[in-house]
Amino acid sequence: MKFVYDFHEGNKDLKDLLGGKGANLAEMTNLGLPVPPGFTITAEACKEFLKNGTQVDGLGAEIDEHLATLERDMGRRLGDANDPLLVSVRSGAKFSMPGMMETVLNVGLNDASVDRLSRQAGGNDRFAWDSYRRLIQMFGKTVCEVPGHEFEDALHEAKVAKGVKDDVQLDADDLRALVTAYKKVFVKHTGHEFPQDPREQLDLAIAAVFRSWNADRAVLYRRQERIPADLGTAVNVVAMVFGNLGSDSGTGVAFTRDPATGEQGVYGDYLSNAQGEDVVAGIRNTLSLADLERLDKKSYDELMQIMATLEGHYRDLCDIEFTIERGKLWMLQTRVGKRTAAAAFTIASQLVDEGVIDLDEALIRVSGAQLGQLMFPRFDLSGDPSPITRGVGASPGAAYGEVVFTAQRAVEVAAQGKQVILVRRETNPDDLPGMIAAQGILTSRGGKTSHAAVVARGMGKTCVCGADEMEVGPASFTVGSHTVNEGDVVSIDGTTGRVYLGEVPVRPSEVVQYFEGDLDPAQANDPLVYAVHRIITHADEKRRLTVRTNADTGADAARARRFGAQGIGLCRTEHMFLGDRRELVERLILARTEAERDDALATLLPLQRADFLDIFREMNGLPVTVRLIDPPLHEFLPSLEELAVKVAVAHEHGQRVEHDEQMLAAVRRMHEQNPMLGLRGVRLGLVIPGLFAMQVRAIAEAAAALAAEGGKPRPEIMVPLVGAVQELETVRAEAEKIIAEVLGSSGSAGSSASPGGSAVEILIGTMIEVPRAALTAGQIAEAAEFFSFGTNDLTQMGWGFSRDDVEGAFFWRYLELGIFGISPFESIDTDGVGRLVRIAAEEGRAARPGLKLGVCGEHGGDPDSVHFFHEVGLDYVSCSPFRVPIARLEAGRAAV
Ligand code: ADP
Ligand code: MG
Ligand code: MG
Repeated sequence: MKFVYDFHEGNKDLKDLLGGKGANLAEMTNLGLPVPPGFTITAEACKEFLKNGTQVDGLGAEIDEHLATLERDMGRRLGDANDPLLVSVRSGAKFSMPGMMETVLNVGLNDASVDRLSRQAGGNDRFAWDSYRRLIQMFGKTVCEVPGHEFEDALHEAKVAKGVKDDVQLDADDLRALVTAYKKVFVKHTGHEFPQDPREQLDLAIAAVFRSWNADRAVLYRRQERIPADLGTAVNVVAMVFGNLGSDSGTGVAFTRDPATGEQGVYGDYLSNAQGEDVVAGIRNTLSLADLERLDKKSYDELMQIMATLEGHYRDLCDIEFTIERGKLWMLQTRVGKRTAAAAFTIASQLVDEGVIDLDEALIRVSGAQLGQLMFPRFDLSGDPSPITRGVGASPGAAYGEVVFTAQRAVEVAAQGKQVILVRRETNPDDLPGMIAAQGILTSRGGKTSHAAVVARGMGKTCVCGADEMEVGPASFTVGSHTVNEGDVVSIDGTTGRVYLGEVPVRPSEVVQYFEGDLDPAQANDPLVYAVHRIITHADEKRRLTVRTNADTGADAARARRFGAQGIGLCRTEHMFLGDRRELVERLILARTEAERDDALATLLPLQRADFLDIFREMNGLPVTVRLIDPPLHEFLPSLEELAVKVAVAHEHGQRVEHDEQMLAAVRRMHEQNPMLGLRGVRLGLVIPGLFAMQVRAIAEAAAALAAEGGKPRPEIMVPLVGAVQELETVRAEAEKIIAEVLGSSGSAGSSASPGGSAVEILIGTMIEVPRAALTAGQIAEAAEFFSFGTNDLTQMGWGFSRDDVEGAFFWRYLELGIFGISPFESIDTDGVGRLVRIAAEEGRAARPGLKLGVCGEHGGDPDSVHFFHEVGLDYVSCSPFRVPIARLEAGRAAV
C-alpha cells in the first residue's frame, strides 16, 4: 500500500486518504497556486500505526523518498547544519476538527543550525531564535506532553523582566535566553534533552500527530459531531515559509465571503511579523486585509486573485490560511468554509444568481437543521449587549430569566409566575423537574452530549452548557469580575452559546415572519428571507413526499397550513376529553348501566363533532387523519394517591363521600403497573362499548356538516395500537356501519356517500406502532386503506424503553458510550426501528397496492429521518407545525 503522496499526486477528492487539509493542499498545488512543497502521509498509515502502536512497515522508506524530493525542490536538506531545511508537521483529518489535533512548526532546527538559519535570513538572529523557541514549545507540548503553561509562563516572565508587552519586542538575546529556559522546562518534564537530530524530531512529530487522533478532546469532539472514530488523521509535512522574518512578512486568515452573513467581500485578519497560529491565538491585535493592501499592495492583489480563483474552482465560500515571507505570498491551507445557517442560505442563493450553481445544488447546500436554527426566536442585539461569557450552544433558542441554582428553587420561583434560568455545574436526572420549570438551562461543564444538553434538546428547551469560565457556587456564580446571585437576570442564547447579563429583548425571526405570511419575500429587502423563499420553493417543486402536520386544534391547523402543511397526519383526540369534559369521562367510567354510559357518550358526541368540524374547516380540501382515543382512560381520572388520602381523611372525620369512594374504586380497578403497555388504543375501543362508535359518528357527522356547507372534508379514521388484523377488522366493521348510517350509503368505507349532493369519502386505516403490526403488515393491510407509522411508540416498543422515563435517566450515558450517536427518539434508528418500517411498507403494499403510507411520529420532522422515509417510499411525513418547513426542505433535498 502507498502511504505517502506528494502534493502533486493528490487532489481535493481524496479526503478519505489525505484528509481535508492534504487533499486541498494538493488541489491548490495542481492549480498552480504558490503552495510550499510538501507531502501527505495517509490516514491509512495512521490507522496502521494506531492498530500496532509502532512504526508502520515501509512508511520510513517512503518518507525518505518524498523527503528527498522535497529537499531537491527546496535546494536544502533536513539536518544540514550549514543550510537547514525546516518543515511543519500538520494533522488533517477527513472532517475538520478545529484545534483538536496537533501541528508542530519549524521541525529540523537545532543548536547547530540556528545560527545558519539566521544567516539564511540575512543575518536575522531574532528570527532564528524565535523560530527555535517556538519549535521547543510546540514540540514539547505536542510530542512530549510538557504542560503548555510552563512555556507560556517562561515567555511571560521574559516579557515582564524586559518590561515589554509584545512578543515582538523581545530581541535576539532575550529569545536566546528563552530557549535556554525552555530547554530546562523540557528536561524537567521529560527527563531528557530536547532531541537534536532533525530526522528524529520529524519521526517523533509524525507519531505524535497520529496519536493526537485519540487525544481525549478529539475523541469527545468526534462523538459530539458524530464523526466516525476509525478514520484516522493524515499528516502533512510542509516546507516552512516564514511570516516572522520582519515587518515585510506576516501571516493571516481570510474568507472569500462573510461567513456570518454570506455578504460578498473580503474578510480576514493579518498579523505582520508573526508565525502560524499567532493570528487566531489573539496574542496581538490583528490588522484587517484592507491594512494589508496598504502595507503590501503586490501581495494583497495576488491574494485577491487567488481567492477569486479558489471561489471559482470550489464554487463556494472558501477560507484560507496564508503567509507572506519577505513580500512573497504563500498559501498554506484552504477549504470550503464553515458558515452560519443564515450565510448558508444567502450564499447558496447568491451563487445561483452568479450562475455558479443551479437551484438543485443550492438546495443540497443548505439543510433542515440550518433552517430550524433560523426559525428560533432571537435576541434583538441592536442594543449591542456584550456577553459575560460563552459556552456550547447545546439547544437553540433565546431565553432569559432569574437565575436559580437548584431544581427545587426553579420549581418554586417558576410557580410564582417568573421565568427562571437554571444554573448548575452539570445536571443529573434529579434536576429534571427544575429543567422542566425553567426557561433555559446553563451549565459550566459538559458538551453537546451532556445530560443537560440531551435532555434540553429533547424538551426543546434553550440550553448553554460547558461555559467553563463560570465558577458555580451554591447561591451565585462568578465569571471574570461579575458575580451573579440568585434572582439576578441573565439571557442565554442556545445557538451561539453566549450568556448576557440582564434581559435581552427577544423577537420572532424574520424567517418565521415570512412563513407566517407577514413578510413578502419580494418586498422584504432581506437577502436571507429571499434566499429561504427561493430555496424552499424549489424544494416544493422537487419533492415527492407530501408534508402534513400534527395538529389537534383549528388554530394549530391554520398555522401549519400557513407553514405549508398539506393536511393533518395526526389529530389526537385526547385533549378533547380534558378540561370541563373530564366530568363526562368520569361519568362514562363510573357508569353502572348501559343507559348511564350511553348518556355520557351522547353528551360527548356534539362536543367532539364541533371539534372536528373546526379542524375539517381549517383543512378544507386536505386530508385529516383523526386518531381514535389512545391513552388509558385512567389518565383522565384523579391520581390514586390524592384520592386515597382524600377518602381516608373523610373517613377519619366519620364522613361518607360516596362519589369519591366510587371514583377511588374505579381508579384502583384501572390502575396499571405499565400503562404504556396496558389498556389503551384499540384495546380501549374493544373493551368500552360505544366509545369508538361515538368518535366515528362525530367524525362522520362533522364531515357531513362541512360538505353540507359546500366544503370538502377528507377525513381518515386512524385506529391506534393495532397489533393484529382481527382488532382492526372488529373496529372497522362497526365504523363502516356508523358511517353508512350517517352518510346514507351502502356502508363501505372508502367509498363515497352524498349528503346534500357533495361526495364525502372516509378512509379507515391504522397506525403501525406495535412491532407485531409491522411484522404482520401484509395481513393488516387487508383491512386498512392506509398505514401511518407511529415511530414514537414503535421506537419505545422496539427498544423496550419508555420514552417518558429513559431520556433523562440514562441516554446521556448511552451517548457518551457511543451506543447511539443520537437519541433514537430524535432521529429514527434505521437499522432496527427503520427496518420494521421498511418491512411493513413492503409487505403492506404487496398485499394492497396503492396503500397510502405516512409517518406521524416526531421523526416526521427530523432531517435524517425524512431522507429515510423518502427512500423507503412513504407518501407523506407529518410533524409539528414548526417543523413543516424543515420537512418540506429535507423532502426536497432527498429528491434531488
Ligand atoms: P490547524 O489545523 O490547527 O489550523 P495547521 O496545520 O493549519 O493547524 O497549522 C497551524 C498554523 O501553522 C497555521 O496558521 C498554519 O498556517 C501554520 N503553518 C503550518 N504549516 C506551515 C508552514 N509550512 N509554514 C508556515 N506556516 C505554517
Ligand atoms: Mg489550519
Ligand atoms: Mg402511539
